[in-house]
Formats: sequence, C-alpha cells, structure tokens
Amino acid sequence: MNIDELIIKYPEILSLQSYRPFLWTNPHQNYAENLRFTITDIEDAENRFQRFAPFIAEAFPETVLNKGIIESPLVEIRAMKAAMAERIGCSFSDHDRLFLKCDHALPISGSIKARGGIYEVLKYAETLAIQAGLLRVQDNYRCLTEEKFKRFFSDYSLAVGSTGNLGLSVGIMGRKLGFNVEVHMSTDAKKWKKELLRSVGATVYEHSGDFTQAVAQGREQAKSNEKMHFIDDEYSTDLFLGYAVAAFRLKKQIAEQNISVDAEHPLAVIIPCGVGGAPSGITFGLKQIFGKNVRCFTAEPTHAPAMLLGLMTELWDQISVKDVGIDGITAADGLAVGRPSKLACEVLDSQISGCFTVTDDDLFKYLALLANTEKIQVEPSASAGFCGFDLIRNRFFTTFDRVNYIVWSTGGGMVPPAEMTEYIKRGNRSFR
Ligand SMILES: *Cc1c(COP(=O)(O)O)cnc(C)c1O
Repeated sequence: MNIDELIIKYPEILSLQSYRPFLWTNPHQNYAENLRFTITDIEDAENRFQRFAPFIAEAFPETVLNKGIIESPLVEIRAMKAAMAERIGCSFSDHDRLFLKCDHALPISGSIKARGGIYEVLKYAETLAIQAGLLRVQDNYRCLTEEKFKRFFSDYSLAVGSTGNLGLSVGIMGRKLGFNVEVHMSTDAKKWKKELLRSVGATVYEHSGDFTQAVAQGREQAKSNEKMHFIDDEYSTDLFLGYAVAAFRLKKQIAEQNISVDAEHPLAVIIPCGVGGAPSGITFGLKQIFGKNVRCFTAEPTHAPAMLLGLMTELWDQISVKDVGIDGITAADGLAVGRPSKLACEVLDSQISGCFTVTDDDLFKYLALLANTEKIQVEPSASAGFCGFDLIRNRFFTTFDRVNYIVWSTGGGMVPPAEMTEYIKRGNRSFR
C-alpha cells in the first residue's frame, strides 16, 4: 500500500492525522444485500439465552429479578440533555429526546461484553454438553449448576486475548460453568482486572511484547487442541450474534417507552467502537428491525480511528491506524484498537451511517457531566457516544422536528470506586 497515493485519494486522512474530531459519512449505507446473517440467526441466539436463563438466575443471584436474562435499562437522561445544551452548547431541538442504553449496568460483568463474550461461552458449553449426551435443548438448564457438569467442563479450556472487558466476561462465566480459562493480557493492562480474573480462578498470562502477536499465538495454540476454544474478538460470528440480540431487547424497550420510530421521527443510535464486533452486531439487528428509520454511528478515539479508516479506504482489516502514522494511544481501554475486524467491516460497510472520532479530554468531560447530572458512572470508552453529538446532528438531523438519540454506554460497572473518582475528577477539570 502506498500511503501517499492513499492520502491523495482520501484527503480525510490528513484530518485524522491531526487528531481533531472528525465525522465520516458512509456513501454505501442502506445498500444491504447478501449479508451472511439473517434475522433467524438472531432469533436462534435469543432462544439460546432463554434456555440458559434458569441456569444464569441460579448461578448469578443479581439476575433473579430479570429471570436470568442479562439485560440493561434504557433510560431517558433529561438532566444530561439540559447540561449538554447549557454547558457545552449542543444544539438539541426542543422535541429531541436523549436516552442512555445502560450496558455499563449489565449484570455479571458490567460491560457490553456481557452480551457477546458470555453468549459465546454459553454456546460452546451447550454444544459440548449436547454432544456428550448430558443435555438436551428441552431440559431445564438449571441442571448446569450441578457438580457433574462442572467436572465435565473442567476437561475443557477457554482462551481469550483481551486487555479488559472481554477477558472479564469470558473469565467470570467460563469459571462459573467449570471451564479452565486462560486470559492473555498485555503487561500494561489494569491491575484490578488481572486481580479480579485471578480471584475467580482464571489463569492470566501477561505479555510484554507485541500483544497482537501474543493473541495470534493463543489462536494457533487453540487450533491444535480440540479441548480448547479460543474466543476470537476479530473473527467470531458467535460474539457478533450475541451482540445482535440487543436489538430485539431494545425494540421492546422502545415500545414500552412509547418512542415512535418512523420516517418523521428517526432513531439515532451511537455506539463506541473497538474492533467493531459490538457495534456491527447491534447495528445489524437494529437495521433488520427498523430499516431506514434507524441510523447508527460509531464513536472512536481520535488516536485509534480503526473502523473509520478501514471503511473509508475500503481496505477494511488490511489497514491499521499505525500505517498512516496514528499512534493508537488512548485512555479508552475498550477502544484502543488499530485494526478493525473484517467481519464487522463486512456488515458495517452497508449498514452504518457514519463514523466519528472523539478526543480523550472529551471522553472524561462527558463522563463527568453524566456523573454530575444523572449520577450514572461509566468508564471513559462508554461516554464516547456523547462526544460527536453536534457533528451528527448538523450533518443528518437538522430537518427533523424530533429525533430520538440513544447513546450506548458500554462499560464501567466493574471499575473500582477509587479509579472512578479519578476519572470524574479529570473530567471536571475541563469545566473550570
Ligand atoms: C469492547 C468494548 C467496546 C467496543 O466493542 P468492539 O466489539 O471492540 O467494537 C466499547 N466499549 C467498551 C467499554 C468495551 O469494552
């Protein structure tokens, strides 16, 4: 790849190199054809979650009230909307509504990875148990808490490469079922995450060198071991479908809150993006349900615009932000990604309306504003959706009398309080 030629073709790369917030509009949107998934695949995933619900309710008491279904609330955040208008100058119309999809509050692992990561663990467990003749789909899966299943699963291992929330989700659910769990992390991963994983009995490997290389090794190692399953953030269709289920759940919540979604009242859904698994799964699901009346956007750090760069140049996973001199350094753990997932690009290429970038300072600023106005605490990655509000509104929504905006809050539920206090402090400094 010749970078100079690429820049001539896509001068937007110069904007990205300046690390200033930028919105790219997708010229291919809504031309969806031949996607490799259908709505039936999401239904299949939802049914699997339903089968596991009795087990989850039993194994994780915090899910009992919701009958073992792992879901988060959709809440209208009026005080946040008012503060964004007054303190930052965001240009809402009077009738616009702003909602938060609270995945920071998902039970079990406190982040959006409790959708995809946990789904993949459950699917692997079910497949093994059925193959061994220990389980049938019509059984009550509450039986999975029995000792004989733990013993059975302890013959198998799950491996995952993750510096954060994916490792936590796979580790917590995998260990609960009885699997051996190996989590590959880089040495600079947060100490509390390593400690938490070790406390549930996962093995944490710390890699000092090239993390991508370490993950590739883990992937290879698992291939030659039939009793090991590698959860692959970049290629996994199970992760994707686990995320897509969120769309069905959101549809119900939208109806419950009497939010109309039609040609005059579009829905804007803004999702922080790392490799793209979560936003592509959710976007795919929402497009299946709401079609043109929903527009989805990804938010990425100015220092790690992997998805924006991959989609814009149409090189997908064949280009990394480092190739154009962007350093990938950001405080947004879940979003510190240089190269997007190919599977995610394949889906978002026709489904996403736009991709924008946000500065780290803005992540902390909006994180603090949300904590101050709504008493909702999220991690830096999770506030990314707020940051591009004016960019999106001015490009897409000025002609509408009412737009319903849903900002997806993707994590923070497991962040230790002392760490959270520091995040909020840093954000509050920008209001002085
Ligand atoms: C993983 C993660 C994301 C993004 O998900 P991808 O599938 O990597 O795009 C966003 N926010 C948080 C907090 C995450 O952990």
